[in-house]
Amino acid sequence: MQVVVDWDGTVTEVDGLHLVLLEFGDEQIYDEAEKHLGRELTLNGVIAMEFETVRAPLAEVVAWVRENVRVRPGFSAFARKRRPLIVSSGFHELIEPIVEREGLELDVVANRLDPRPDGWRVRFRSHEPCSVCGEPCKRADIASLGEFVYVGDGVSDRCVALTAARVFARDGLASHLASRNVPFEPFSDFYDVERALATRC
Ligand SMILES: [Mg+2]
Ligand SMILES: [Zn+2]
Repeated sequence: MQVVVDWDGTVTEVDGLHLVLLEFGDEQIYDEAEKHLGRELTLNGVIAMEFETVRAPLAEVVAWVRENVRVRPGFSAFARKRRPLIVSSGFHELIEPIVEREGLELDVVANRLDPRPDGWRVRFRSHEPCSVCGEPCKRADIASLGEFVYVGDGVSDRCVALTAARVFARDGLASHLASRNVPFEPFSDFYDVERALATRC
């Protein structure tokens, strides 16, 4: 079965977008934007607002990300075996250098950046609201897949996880699904996910 993975906080140990904003962006705007998430602002609205505070050259940020963003244990071996599709609310420009650093070649569905010196702009892959959650959502990205396994951790995974045949969740996604009695399997690294898939597939 096709495996679909979120990127930040799922493949990466720590949310890389958050790390980039702490290092290169405006922390106050970050705190402010996160408070409005799910209320006055959509997820894309929050991402756009946060990244407009980043003005560093893209090459500098990519070098920093390659140096500082680590992937969860077991991911490289898992990726070689399962060839997961990466579906992210982040950016091709910051994901692909890490995939490459790990010696992997994987398909990535994500947004793109226009890294202007007066503040980065985000070029979202879709503005089409999902009929279930009302925002542009990862459901649209997996619409042609058929049955899939989903691995995720956060807000951007909530809606799409409900359509997966099997869900591995950690952190906020795990508590969200638990509070709604949606079944999922907890994981802390990709050895856990591989072990579970190998025993019951
Ligand atoms: Mg995430
Ligand atoms: Zn949705």
